[in-house]
Amino acid sequence: MTPKKPLCDNNGLARSLRHVAKIDQTPFPADILDLSHDGRGVARRDNGKAVFVAGALPGEKVMAKQTARSRSFDEATTLEVLQRSPDRVEPRCPHFGTCGGCALQHLDETKQILAKQRAADATTAEGALESKAQRRLERLQAEAAKLREWLKEHPHDRKSAKGKPRLSNRTDNESAKMPTDKGVIQGYTGVAAVDEAHQIILEAQAHGTGSEQELLLPVSGAIQPIAREHTVVCADSGYHSEDNLKRLEDKGLEAFIPDRLYRQRDPRYAGQEQHTAKPEALWDKSDKPAEKPKLFQPSDFKVAADQSHCICPAGKRLYRNGGNCNIGGRRAIKFSGAQRDCGRCQKRAQCLRHPQRTPVRQVAIFLGKHAKAAEKATERMKRKIDTERGREMLARRFATVEPVFGNLRCNKGLNRFTLRGRQKVDGQWKLYCLVHNIEKLAHSGYAK
Ligand code: SF4
Repeated sequence: MTPKKPLCDNNGLARSLRHVAKIDQTPFPADILDLSHDGRGVARRDNGKAVFVAGALPGEKVMAKQTARSRSFDEATTLEVLQRSPDRVEPRCPHFGTCGGCALQHLDETKQILAKQRAADATTAEGALESKAQRRLERLQAEAAKLREWLKEHPHDRKSAKGKPRLSNRTDNESAKMPTDKGVIQGYTGVAAVDEAHQIILEAQAHGTGSEQELLLPVSGAIQPIAREHTVVCADSGYHSEDNLKRLEDKGLEAFIPDRLYRQRDPRYAGQEQHTAKPEALWDKSDKPAEKPKLFQPSDFKVAADQSHCICPAGKRLYRNGGNCNIGGRRAIKFSGAQRDCGRCQKRAQCLRHPQRTPVRQVAIFLGKHAKAAEKATERMKRKIDTERGREMLARRFATVEPVFGNLRCNKGLNRFTLRGRQKVDGQWKLYCLVHNIEKLAHSGYAK
């Protein structure tokens, strides 16, 4: 059969243009089973997919041509009526089919009324709600099926460096949630090790984690083979942790990595709060913490002069049950309330974090550093940072690495990674860093 000019194409040019690249232009026979609410015949393709055929009536067999397709249905137009419905009539308007205003002039008037009434019945509030609920159910079921499939392929939880499970992400499971100044985003962290003399990037890595603490060792490990005797590692406070500092000490790498409070100890930062920028109103998504009732603090308990007991805010005596405890390197005296006092105390809610399940209040009063406590690497680092050399090294770190990130972000436009998967993102990050290095070499006269 040779395709002919469509008999009727009254359902929109835009619709037929939507997926023009993918549609199959081969004419196909269609048995029309029903009439849709907008006056098109409804048929089924061989694979069971619904197809809406413009210009066809129920009970007819037509030759149709596809005009658009979507995931759940196709659209077509009638080329030729092979088997005519007894309800088909000659349209009264000569422009029917091209003007697009009327949809059912080719149907007998009585049948038109019936069809319109049926469509109106189907769109009552109840009918609409039901079909909406049905569509939602189908969508949820499809989503659940996809999730089950995904879980089958990824049966194990991702773990953080501390061994806690990480939230999975179906789009890119190697990325991670990370807080930024523009709210929480799903992404990667790009890290770079930069040399001070020439601002050349020695190592660049991208990782799917928001925790910088996990990234110091992989990067410092990568540059260790090229480290010299006098090489010093400087990093910002995000990389400061007991474990990181200890491991660097074990490797014999000298490091300057400040804690988050180093500015408060540095007189040069006195009065810095006045320069702190306020968060932009549109981006400030920080949760305002709900006012929690404040519990009695250790300072609310009065320790007796001989340290044999202490008196709680309810005036009850707490008995000493530990005199030289080592809690995180600090010496503490511990006291415990009596069941007969705490059990019926009116102030339980103010005193105990879990008044329903904790029988008595325990309190530890700290008395400075414990004699047996070994000095921590973080304490050694604090002392080091507070020296003149430590402060100078931090200033040199700013001058070395921040301009490099400024160049990559502002001049090269790398405001966010545009790829998915750690390997690709790592490649993208390394490419940008490579461009930076080439530029540095060119500007230093290497290329002349
Ligand atoms: S709960 Fe116990 S320790 Fe706390 S105020 Fe009451 S009696 Fe004192």
